[in-house]
Amino acid sequence: MNQKPYIFDLDISELTKILRSWGQPGYRAQQIWHGLYQSLWSKPKEFTQLSLALREQVAENIEFSHLTPSTRLNSTDGETQKTLFHLPDGHPIETVQMHYQRRQTVCISTQSGCALGCSFCATGQMGLRRNLSSGEIVEQVVYYTRQLAKRGERVTNVVLMGMGEPFHNYESSLEAVRRLNHPQGLNFGARRFTISTVGLVPEIRRFATEGIQANLAISLHAADDELRSSMIPINRKYPLAELMAAVRAYIKATNRRVTFEWALIDGINDTIKQAQKLAALTKGMLVHINLIPLNPTKDYHGKASARDRTERFYDTLQKIGVSCTIRLRRGIDIQAGCGQLADLENE
Ligand code: SAH
Ligand code: SF4
Repeated sequence: MNQKPYIFDLDISELTKILRSWGQPGYRAQQIWHGLYQSLWSKPKEFTQLSLALREQVAENIEFSHLTPSTRLNSTDGETQKTLFHLPDGHPIETVQMHYQRRQTVCISTQSGCALGCSFCATGQMGLRRNLSSGEIVEQVVYYTRQLAKRGERVTNVVLMGMGEPFHNYESSLEAVRRLNHPQGLNFGARRFTISTVGLVPEIRRFATEGIQANLAISLHAADDELRSSMIPINRKYPLAELMAAVRAYIKATNRRVTFEWALIDGINDTIKQAQKLAALTKGMLVHINLIPLNPTKDYHGKASARDRTERFYDTLQKIGVSCTIRLRRGIDIQAGCGQLADLENE
């Protein structure tokens, strides 16, 4: 691994410390942050407000990128793009950009692969390669901010729903959100972030105490322990009763609505019985259910629910008064849909 500090890993005080150790005044760090996050410069030589000697010192001692784009795919829907990047040690990650209505959403990875092994998820099927550093998470957003700036557009939403489990890499994920949210950085409003977790109970409880106004989504997918454990192994460690207690505590502490994700799988979790159990489980809670027909992945043979079963599930919830929507599937032709991210060059 490279020993040089990596610019996107540094918060402004750490950068200040480095520059001071070189005998530079503190405001140089602010100038570099401004160039990086406001002017969106990518190379030290672009920082022309610094002397040539200082630019050279920066170039020699600080790493400016950990992400090497290798494949970029555009969906035939014309609105979804996926980039495969390689990290300096060769591990792959993927980042997805989606244009929908007036939103430009970037879906970012927090790990290369994932250790949690959910049966229906391509990232789970590849196992965990490694955690990303906070900077490697931040740089994905900066990359797409630069891409969109070329067309006069900007990122409006960031979802931590790419590869990996954000709460399994808790510190780096939260540091990344804070750095992107920093007023002197991209100044990206906390409410524009959504963090999706498979349901790691201690981290949900911890997140409730952070005072970050980001949105929380929980991947539920089943409303009883037997079915959920068969799809999501970590449910054995954190069964539904514990998960729902943590979500209730989160809502109580933050007064924020939580989203539950539900990938509809034909004949598995799209039955009227499951809809009724889901309604009972979430009764009286400040929640919203996102229904999404399963996206295909290599090693899982379940199929997406057909339209009539999807609508029947939706209607059952609606009639009981549960807030829910059926989400559009995006970028399926380029494997950029939820749960489809994996190492595409090695498939
Ligand atoms: N690890 C986190 C975030 C990454 S997965 C989590 O599990 O929440 C992002 C979302 O895609 C999750 O809601 C996940 O359950 C969902 N997902 C995984 N595989 C899927 C598939 N094949 N079809 C549809 N959604 C899927
Ligand atoms: Fe990991 Fe989320 Fe995929 Fe489960 S659904 S394997 S937690 S990325």
